[in-house]
Amino acid sequence: MGEAQVSLEHLFRVFTKPEHKDSKLAQIEQHLSDNILDFLSQHVVTKKTSLEEVEQDFADAAMPESPEFVSTHAENLLEKLVAHSVNTYSPTFIGHMTSALPYFHLSLSKLLVGLNQNLVKIETSKAFTPLERQVLGMMHNLVYEQSEPFYEQYLHSARHALGAFCSGGTVANITALWVARNKLLGPDSGFSGVARAGLASALRHYNINNLGVLCSKRGHYSLSKAVDLLGIGREGLLTLPCPDQVLDPEKALQAGKAYQEQGNRLLAIVGIGGTTETGHVDPLDELADVAKELGCWFHVDAAWGGATLFSQSYRYIMKGIERADSVTIDAHKQMYVPMGAGMTLFKNPEHANAVRHHAQYILREGSKDLGATTLEGSRNGMAMMVYSSLHILGRRGYELLINQSIDKAKQFAKMIDEHPDFELVTSPTLSLLTYRVCPQSVQQTLLALPAGKAQRLNGKVDRLVVNVQKLQREAGKSFVSRTRLESPTYGAYPITVFRVVLANPLTTVADLKAILQEQHDIAMRNRVWQDLTLSGEPLANVVNN
Ligand SMILES: *Cc1c(COP(=O)(O)O)cnc(C)c1O
Repeated sequence: MGEAQVSLEHLFRVFTKPEHKDSKLAQIEQHLSDNILDFLSQHVVTKKTSLEEVEQDFADAAMPESPEFVSTHAENLLEKLVAHSVNTYSPTFIGHMTSALPYFHLSLSKLLVGLNQNLVKIETSKAFTPLERQVLGMMHNLVYEQSEPFYEQYLHSARHALGAFCSGGTVANITALWVARNKLLGPDSGFSGVARAGLASALRHYNINNLGVLCSKRGHYSLSKAVDLLGIGREGLLTLPCPDQVLDPEKALQAGKAYQEQGNRLLAIVGIGGTTETGHVDPLDELADVAKELGCWFHVDAAWGGATLFSQSYRYIMKGIERADSVTIDAHKQMYVPMGAGMTLFKNPEHANAVRHHAQYILREGSKDLGATTLEGSRNGMAMMVYSSLHILGRRGYELLINQSIDKAKQFAKMIDEHPDFELVTSPTLSLLTYRVCPQSVQQTLLALPAGKAQRLNGKVDRLVVNVQKLQREAGKSFVSRTRLESPTYGAYPITVFRVVLANPLTTVADLKAILQEQHDIAMRNRVWQDLTLSGEPLANVVNN
């Protein structure tokens, strides 16, 4: 059943014939565009199905031999794929940076696929190329606020780039450090530059022992991938401890100097504009001074926090970002654009020339092909989603969204603070916070304990937090993530915490109250809680042994 005819006639129909109005796929389409929240709540069933069970549905490596009717296939997708997807639109899904999207993206994505432009070259994109350049210009303007004739001069110049559009923050960070590397180790007398001669020759020519990149321990793992890929190596990523959650400029300066005194060269300092784990923002302005003193590149990873710049009330948190040589911003995070939209912005429009690449059949000298300065080749027109969002929401719309996220995070922090059995671990700078559940009596015991014993007791609390997070996820009503970090109170060792990202504008304060209540209920029923709170033996054991 469901097998279609193996004929070109049938295949041509697949290419050309719109779906019948009553077909399964058309129904799905209709339902999605009528009411996406309803579609998701109806079809994404958060059943207690384990990943292993889901894998059974995708266990066969055999190539499907014969064509299948689209409708039959759509049924399949609903049953196997949609049903076991994650409802990221749910207002109680507050564990990650992925959330609900404005409805118009659904229709726009059809337009995007309908046009199927390839932005690697003008010959397959035309209007999309200037659109993407304009989007990069608008975002550049948001960060660097240059006055005219700057944008008039560079926005569409074939010899300049205000940024590079890419699939996300990872590629954006790689692109930024790639440009930094090629700038630092560029052509010199008797040397063709690292891009041509390779890293080994470059280090020899410039008499550099090792190349390093410095950031705090909260740096995103994509930086680690970047240094690996660029030949610097993961050991070349110098991550400094940050008990205060941010990179200390004084310590960064010392570490940078000590590193360079050993014959090494610091390629870049990376300041984080909103860490993935806690949402903290490094002191960017001071780090810009440090980079200047050390003579290295200053990159700001604002993949998450960059959108804070839309808000007049909170823009100050990012002060100093305008001094960065390059900035990463993800539109698929706080700009509510579908997955696959990242950007690197370059302060100096000439910098991207350090990675410019030419080929014979495209990307010719003097062409405006975007592929000449992007890491990725064929690329879709996601920039249109950013373009439309910027127009449909406007700077002021984004400002409202950013403000309400941060304000809500503050309200949630207050709620946690006031609850006797919860501890706020890191309070929100942006719309992220971490906390843990810990019985009040245990909190008091911890205060009185010497460090070593407190660590052992904290180990038990860690287990409670892990259990609650897992059970909550399995129950399927709500989701928060968890991580391990050195807290302001216990700086010497990491503790396990709940991590909340208030990205979804539709999450209400009532939702947050309910989530806290649910966690409390789960915790009190947990064996570890009982262990921790039973007077007498068990707790005494933990403390006394
Ligand atoms: C999300 C994030 C990244 C990685 O971005 P992707 O889009 O997932 O590749 C990098 N840095 C920070 C600070 C992030 O929050």
